[in-house]
Amino acid sequence: MVRPFVPQLVYFEPKAMEYPLGQQLRDKFENMGLEIRETTSHNQVRNLPGDNDFQKYRNAKSTLVVGLRKTLKFDTSKPSAEYAIPFATGCMGHCHYCYLQTTMGSKPYIRTYVNTDEIFDAAEKYMEERSPDITRFEASCTSDIVGVDHLTHTLKQAIEFFGKSDRGLLRFVTKFAHVDHLLDADHRGKTRFRFSINDDYVIKYFEPGTSRLDERIEAAVKVAEAGYPLGFIIAPIYLHEGWQEGYGEMLEKLEAALPAFAKKDLTFEMIQHRFTKPAKRVIQKNYPMTKLELDESKRKAKWGRYGILKYVYQDQEQEEMKDHIGGLVHKLFPKAELEYFT
Ligand code: SF4
Repeated sequence: MVRPFVPQLVYFEPKAMEYPLGQQLRDKFENMGLEIRETTSHNQVRNLPGDNDFQKYRNAKSTLVVGLRKTLKFDTSKPSAEYAIPFATGCMGHCHYCYLQTTMGSKPYIRTYVNTDEIFDAAEKYMEERSPDITRFEASCTSDIVGVDHLTHTLKQAIEFFGKSDRGLLRFVTKFAHVDHLLDADHRGKTRFRFSINDDYVIKYFEPGTSRLDERIEAAVKVAEAGYPLGFIIAPIYLHEGWQEGYGEMLEKLEAALPAFAKKDLTFEMIQHRFTKPAKRVIQKNYPMTKLELDESKRKAKWGRYGILKYVYQDQEQEEMKDHIGGLVHKLFPKAELEYFT
């Protein structure tokens, strides 16, 4: 069982102390007896302990930087939402295939932002622009926000902010089961709480440092009982020997655990495994022993959003995934909506 994240080292940017949340976090971490340092900016977070890059990478993933979100221009977040809303970046998990390995580059530490009111004001402007249409915000584009939220409660604030909004919806996804503090949030059905799930093989070999499938399902049941709309992202779908049985068992387990009422408003998203050449280099550096198959010649090349080639499965394999996993979703969860396969 993965315990809730506790950083080994916490940095504070001085401006963070001008915000009530900055003060609160400082008191909290001092009381927890954590090692605290000052930094003028997160970019100055240097000299993390470790004799080599490999150790430094691991230590960075146990380091939390408390600071301000300066860019209040939100990225788009298709296909699951209109905008990405930034409350944190980085993640304590060690999924070998993680997209953050390339986007976070040499700064894999976790950052949390205390200027939440400014972030909410920016969200309000985006909602105004699109009004009367509803705007959906995705809170987990740059981090697994649930993994750190038991310490910061910024996600809880966001859930309650959108609870009161008539024009916005919130969604996020997690591989962590530490959801108890979110169960009493006043969400008013405006937040879709999603769990990322995978079969036992993928979780065992490629997702160290995250909650196991049974823990995620147990947390999903609690979330459903707390009245949240629920969803599951099956990602990354990865072909390995016995994948049909693996994904079948995963969905059967889920079906058996979820209460009937939760199955009435349920969404599924399916994302196949993909990688880019820069990601492959980073993965092989950070996880040199990985079993993850990253052979370009076996894959189909496709142009990605930023003009970088990405390697997805061959068309025939994609059809098999959609037929098999999508078919099981329809059979076991006839009322659920399968939002997309990508
Ligand atoms: Fe990346 Fe998500 Fe794994 Fe964290 S839990 S390492 S964000 S894939």
